[in-house]
Amino acid sequence: MAVPKKKTSKSRTRTRHSAYRKKQTTKIVKKIQLVVCTNCGAQKLNHHVCKACGFYNGKQVVDKSKELDSITTVKA
Ligand SMILES: [Zn+2]
Repeated sequence: MAVPKKKTSKSRTRTRHSAYRKKQTTKIVKKIQLVVCTNCGAQKLNHHVCKACGFYNGKQVVDKSKELDSITTVKA
């Protein structure tokens, strides 16, 4: 049976693990596809309604002005 010649130190193990975690997080971040909204130019998720203006595929899907009104009325 193959046996490791030397004990792996805490430092070596933790360095390896931190490098692995960093790699994984960058993988996830790279997967997120940000595109520019055609209506307002804000960055939005691909194939999602724009959070800034509520447009999707050139149409107003979510009325952002109404949403703002409801928030202000709840607060008042
Ligand atoms: Zn937009």
